[in-house]
Amino acid sequence: MSTQEEVQKRKTFAIISHPDAGKTTMTEKLLLYGNLIRSAGTVKGKKSGKFATSDWMEIEKQRGISVTSSVMNFQYEGFHINILDTPGHEDFSEDTYRTLTAVDSVVMIIDSTKGIEAQTIKLFKVCRMRGIPIFTFMNKLDREGKEPLALLEELEEVLEIDTYPMNWPAGMGKGFLGIFDRENEQFVQHHPGEEESYIPYTELENHPELTENATYQDALNELDLVAEAGNTYSEEAISNGELTPVFFGSALSPFGVQTFFDSFIRLAPNPTPRKSTKGAVKPEEENFSGFIFKIQANMNPAHRDRIAFLRVCSGKFTRGMNVTLARTGKELKLAQSQQMIASSRDTLEEAYAGDIIGIYDPNAYQIGDTLLTGKEKFEFDELPQFPPEIFKKVMAKNALKSKQFRKGIEQLVQEGAIQLFRDYLTDSFILGAVGELQYQVFTYRMENEYNAEVTMEPIGERVPRWLKPEQADPSLFDSGNLLARDRYDQPLVLFRNEFAKNWFKDKNPDVELIDLFETNDFQ
Ligand code: GDP
Repeated sequence: MSTQEEVQKRKTFAIISHPDAGKTTMTEKLLLYGNLIRSAGTVKGKKSGKFATSDWMEIEKQRGISVTSSVMNFQYEGFHINILDTPGHEDFSEDTYRTLTAVDSVVMIIDSTKGIEAQTIKLFKVCRMRGIPIFTFMNKLDREGKEPLALLEELEEVLEIDTYPMNWPAGMGKGFLGIFDRENEQFVQHHPGEEESYIPYTELENHPELTENATYQDALNELDLVAEAGNTYSEEAISNGELTPVFFGSALSPFGVQTFFDSFIRLAPNPTPRKSTKGAVKPEEENFSGFIFKIQANMNPAHRDRIAFLRVCSGKFTRGMNVTLARTGKELKLAQSQQMIASSRDTLEEAYAGDIIGIYDPNAYQIGDTLLTGKEKFEFDELPQFPPEIFKKVMAKNALKSKQFRKGIEQLVQEGAIQLFRDYLTDSFILGAVGELQYQVFTYRMENEYNAEVTMEPIGERVPRWLKPEQADPSLFDSGNLLARDRYDQPLVLFRNEFAKNWFKDKNPDVELIDLFETNDFQ
């Protein structure tokens, strides 16, 4: 098969949601379709215990979680599906955001009994910043939830994205009858505890048990309303991330999952060209290229190895091939390669654009690195910097160990495990992270890998806003709204809270406050 044919089979996506919305349940169902797992209930170790086999970091064992995201892949209807996990709960971190730089589309799962929740909003912002197509699954229709129209309105208002319902539910909870599948012009009938059945619109007249039901008629009226007043279907708007197709269903039952997935596979983009210093790199180009979006250390404490996760962007990867690390010009042999399937590591022989491979890292790689073959040298666009939320001042516990301390910080920051800032005036170290767990991992690794114990002084959750260098006037800020510099020497303010930020904005309308979520190209 040609590279182009291989690329056209690839669908690489992440599932984003707020904890407990049903991401694991959905992932399990999709893996079942791919026959990757025999019975559902095995994806997350926390609940079943079955998957707690990974001997990754000690901290993972203690907490029974997977610190960094893994990749699952399977074949479905002739497609090669790659699902990237986005860790939630306490293990929410920059890695969660970064994973979204390696996918071509995103499935957003919303608990229809709760509506849009905090973590969904954060992840959504990253998708929008990158223009990634977003497919929405309104989950838990088997329970009494919010009205479908209200859910659509919430999506449009809170996330500022247009919606197009691909199906429409008739009832919910106990009175749930099924969904109108608009695309395939059929009614998908719900039979509690049994498989769903499909009735083409043309045959509905033979089903008075449905058509004479008041719930069914209400849904039909709503559907008319949606068809008349709703957004126009546009595949272009979907692929630009401006319009999200919305599917109603239940991951647990499962109901509407198969129809959702079939439409998703059809509409979700294949790997697209990626921006680089030489212009867009096409997936079907002959030369291999890819970039590293995550580095995971100590997956196996016995070997102390590091695994770098690489998204293939063009050409063909084969195990053992020689590649050039664009940043240094050094040649490396990709001898070990792992494909991550849940927590077991399989060796992978070849991969194409869209695939994610785990490669052994001889301490050579950094987040964002480009690996390539061929004469032409280029680098993919830098990965965006994501705004941290939790900040702490950090010092070496033992002043005699300051050398180890600096080396440790330098390497861990380079690896992207945590972000480093300096107090603008005193130059002292300030760490920033998206999640609290990153601090635990940082402390653990500083002690165990660099023999440098650290002392941390929390300065709490902050609202970071970047400044133009010429507007970084220390006299405008106090320790409450701390002025700092990032690792690229760009100034930023760590506002105490939203209120302090808005107050400052009112007082100093000329000072431009830059939100990294809004401004993609600011570095
Ligand atoms: P995650 O935290 O997003 O991975 O959520 P899980 O998949 O672990 O689901 C959280 C809880 O919601 C579990 O108890 C699931 O059984 C339940 N759940 C998931 N999907 C559905 C659904 O469609 N209907 C109902 N009633 N419960 C669901």
